[in-house]
Amino acid sequence: MAEGKHRAPETDAAQALHGFEASDGAVTPPLQPSTTFARQRDYSLLSGDYQRDHSPTLHPAEALLAQLEGGSAAMLYASGMAAAAAVIQSLRPGDHIVAQRVMYWGLRKWLQGFCQDFGIALDLVDAEQPGAIQAALRPGETRIVWIETPSNPMWEVVDIAAAADAAHGAGAKLVVDSTVATPVQSQPLALGADIVFHSATKYLNGHSDVLAGALVTADSESELWQRAKAYRAQGGAMLGAFEAWLLLRGMRTLYLRVARASESALWLAQRLSGHPKVAEVLYPGLEGHPGHAVAARQMRGGFGGMLSIRVTGGREAALRTAGACDVFLRATSLGGVESLIEHRATIEGESSPVPEDLLRISVGIEDRNDLLADLEQALDKGTSDA
Ligand SMILES: *Cc1c(COP(=O)(O)O)cnc(C)c1O
Repeated sequence: MAEGKHRAPETDAAQALHGFEASDGAVTPPLQPSTTFARQRDYSLLSGDYQRDHSPTLHPAEALLAQLEGGSAAMLYASGMAAAAAVIQSLRPGDHIVAQRVMYWGLRKWLQGFCQDFGIALDLVDAEQPGAIQAALRPGETRIVWIETPSNPMWEVVDIAAAADAAHGAGAKLVVDSTVATPVQSQPLALGADIVFHSATKYLNGHSDVLAGALVTADSESELWQRAKAYRAQGGAMLGAFEAWLLLRGMRTLYLRVARASESALWLAQRLSGHPKVAEVLYPGLEGHPGHAVAARQMRGGFGGMLSIRVTGGREAALRTAGACDVFLRATSLGGVESLIEHRATIEGESSPVPEDLLRISVGIEDRNDLLADLEQALDKGTSDA
């Protein structure tokens, strides 16, 4: 990979790092679906023996992601949740985790159940508040600090460098869910994080057609990484070859897609601020957002493609607004080329800390005027009785 080092990440992504060598001159990486690999007559192996611990199609995608994040190694999993579980399952009973209170709810919910069942202590904290992580740490006992920035669905921003300092001071590792920021706009490892997590289902793939997760480590020799690696091979949560191949294809346009989504999201956030039917726009690129100063310092090239709006008239008006959209699709998930709108409280259920009037918006790569016009007519219809 030394050759790729002096090139811009846009070049590495577009060319898939040239992490493959085709004997026939192919310019795209091959797809190798074989689950098993034959031995020579002397019983030696040519590469690996079985796809669960050796899947050649994964290597170029993992190498590219490691390069884009500035890490020493990456691993792909069957979903984001499988990648998160791999980190948490490398802990032992009696260990302690500090995690963010308002984050991707599926992970928070799973963490709470898993930690309870397996004797791992868990503290949920408002990680975006200075000092909150520090106060929850138990030196010698805390193994992992887990943050997400910008975080679902309020897009709060956590100071990664400060979180890394606090975690390391207590002997813990910092894991950053960088699904929303992507390697295009955030480099958590350079800020001191130990592991970067992605739901690769989202921006990395970018086309809403692959379920995948990823971990990238700063130190591939660490005990945590070695345990997670063994766990993937044995537990079997690795990504399938076809999905890895599609994911790499998606990653080749990552920089274009993220730049476009991020520009449009900022433009929409600005246009919707002050709209009479919008009580609040949540977007870290807006100067009035509580996380703006930290985001401006630790993100680059924009503030991401995700924003939320709080609709005047509460839950019913929010649901009617979503129902009136024609261009935005009413769907969960994020980071695809198509724009999505979602009433989060409906998805998360009763225990959710998400306001009832909130609509989460994933901005795609469509014409931004179409997106704004759609939201404006939907807000008019949705809030007309309010
Ligand atoms: C989607 C998502 C996850 C979970 O990933 P899956 O690929 O759905 O398993 C975790 N974190 C964030 C921020 C996400 O958006």
